[in-house]
Amino acid sequence: MSESLFDQASERLADAIAHVHISEDAIERLKSPKASLQVSIPVRMDNGTLKVFQGYRVRYNDLRGPTKGGIRFHPKVNMDEVTSLAFWMTFKCAAVNLPFGGAKGGVAVDPKQLSKFELERLSRGYIDAIADFMGADVDIPAPDVQTNATIMGWMVDEYSTIQRKLCPAAITGKPLTMGGSIGREAATGLGAFFAIETLMPLLKMERSQTTVAVQGFGNVGAAIAEAMSKAGYRVVAVSDSKGGIYSKKGLDIPSIVHYKNSTRSFQAVYCQDSVCNIVEHDTLSNEELLELDVDILVPAALENQITEHNAHKIRAKYILEIANGPVTPAADKILERRGIMVFPDILINAGGVTVSYFEWVQNRSGFYWTLEEVNDRLKQSMVTETLRIWEVAQQKQISMRTAAYVHALTRLSDAIDAKGTRSYYAQ
Ligand code: GLU
Repeated sequence: MSESLFDQASERLADAIAHVHISEDAIERLKSPKASLQVSIPVRMDNGTLKVFQGYRVRYNDLRGPTKGGIRFHPKVNMDEVTSLAFWMTFKCAAVNLPFGGAKGGVAVDPKQLSKFELERLSRGYIDAIADFMGADVDIPAPDVQTNATIMGWMVDEYSTIQRKLCPAAITGKPLTMGGSIGREAATGLGAFFAIETLMPLLKMERSQTTVAVQGFGNVGAAIAEAMSKAGYRVVAVSDSKGGIYSKKGLDIPSIVHYKNSTRSFQAVYCQDSVCNIVEHDTLSNEELLELDVDILVPAALENQITEHNAHKIRAKYILEIANGPVTPAADKILERRGIMVFPDILINAGGVTVSYFEWVQNRSGFYWTLEEVNDRLKQSMVTETLRIWEVAQQKQISMRTAAYVHALTRLSDAIDAKGTRSYYAQ
């Protein structure tokens, strides 16, 4: 039988435990989720019929603070995936020192098949179903794959209606007018950019000599491609779910983003003012994009993209994981043997949840920050934690992934031990 995603996620914990002294109690506490909820969400469709969707919310661990993590709307969402994502959130929040535990939620649905009203009813229905399981001091949802600020707005409105008071801090990633934080939408991409900028001198690389391929052109993939392109990296390939475009000379990412936002279509273009022309390019599949001979490969789509089946075909020197879980543990081993360095998701994509934390702080204090304040604090955190994880990797001669887990595990085990361990009770 093939391994579940959660079995794979747990392998990372096992790898890290070998490099750090932590109590048996801590290991035991981290092996399973604190609480898992599966709900049926009845939704009245526009044609009058009733459809029931399956929803999930897993609170993995809250020893460092209320649990935190996004909600995804995707046909393949299931309990195994949500549990794994909640596990990753636990380690992500600890890796960048946020006072949060980890959680995740999702609904098995293809949101593109729903009308806007159906999507709103589903979003509100999900919150009705999990309302007793969440809250600003308990569990705080946010956007994830195929959810956004509009959906978070409906959700926080529904939650506030249930509670009969405004509860902005119960959900992050909201629209600005409902208490969202400036800078939240761009935060995951920007955080990843700060991380790679910190790593570049350590890797002795120059931006203009560095080629990049980005798989996935959603909110986060487009943001990192644009940030890297503006900073002078040569972004040679990008793709969305339907396929990719490639140009050896480099693509004009700001033009592609502009074209996509104004026409909703994905094309290799060069735009001057509002006039866009298609430029010379090759088309390629998502699989081909992953196998390109580039310096940095950025998987920014879904999990399980680089597996034992294609890891030996990867030609990139470095992999910057913006998606959650794009490289499987079996692929990790092959890549490591081949000298390909992976910069792990729990560090690289932590910018989103970091600014979610800033949003929660602003909601609770009622005092709102400027974009400069948000981005400065994000940068400070990403640079500090990237350097710390790099040092752990160098000192212990382990991969950046294992170092990130070791770093997070040390913080998690301190929190677990502070509540009393076996040796404490044996005295
Ligand atoms: N969904 C994002 C993640 O995977 C953000 C979570 C959050 O802001 O709570 O990190």
